[in-house]
Amino acid sequence: MNVRVIKRRAKTLYTRSRIPGVDWSVNQYVGCSFACPYCYAKNVVRENEAEWGSWVIVKVNAPELARKRVSGTVVMSTVSDPYQPIEAELKLTRSVLRFMDKRNELSILTKSPLVTRDIDLFRLFDSIEVGLTVNSFEGREKSLLEPLTPVMKVRINALQELHEVGIRTYAFVSPIIPGVTDVSAIVEETRDFVDHYFFEVLNLRKAGGAFESILRENFPESHRILTRAELFKTFVNNLVAEIRSLGVRAEGIETHFHGWGFVGL
Ligand code: SF4
Repeated sequence: MNVRVIKRRAKTLYTRSRIPGVDWSVNQYVGCSFACPYCYAKNVVRENEAEWGSWVIVKVNAPELARKRVSGTVVMSTVSDPYQPIEAELKLTRSVLRFMDKRNELSILTKSPLVTRDIDLFRLFDSIEVGLTVNSFEGREKSLLEPLTPVMKVRINALQELHEVGIRTYAFVSPIIPGVTDVSAIVEETRDFVDHYFFEVLNLRKAGGAFESILRENFPESHRILTRAELFKTFVNNLVAEIRSLGVRAEGIETHFHGWGFVGL
């Protein structure tokens, strides 16, 4: 897919977050050429009507805005991936990290192994953790659900590399789709180099109608579970039991049946 790059000057980089447990979000890019069909950000960002993934807004002055000292947790990023393909060339995320006040409490989330390029900068922060999204999509599932992202193996290798150099890591297991996402297999593959986990069940409502059609047509049983209250409740109860039996450190499970929900573990 050809990606249109839109350069802008921003007024601010740190935005107050409404995500529970997150005080600030930082998005030096808005939009994401990984273009995951289920991405909820496409419905959050109303900047552009063109197809999600076909454009990326680049905040050209993000590095200078990053200098600000903020208190509380800062998540990079919430409506984009800080290591999406364009970052290899632009190095905007790298510049933001260079200029950012190193006392800020930073949590990075990406799907890309490019994140390991910046280990030298991560080491300068007082408090930092780096997470990779892992969801076990492979083969046909991956081409339907997440066709443009790096494969699972390279994400897991990135987690291992980060851990081996002493960076605190987490795995964001998302989106969990009943019958598709193999949570136990993910944990077994990553537990040696992940400090903690965060789990999230697919946000079907925010994923939009086109994605719901993909799911209904290709994974009808998953769709049934995600749309019927009783089936969903049983699924989440079983998931809680499964994760507890794995004995890993986890914040909880985010759910999205009637709006946002959180199940502690
Ligand atoms: S990588 Fe993240 S931000 Fe980018 S399209 Fe996928 S879900 Fe959305």
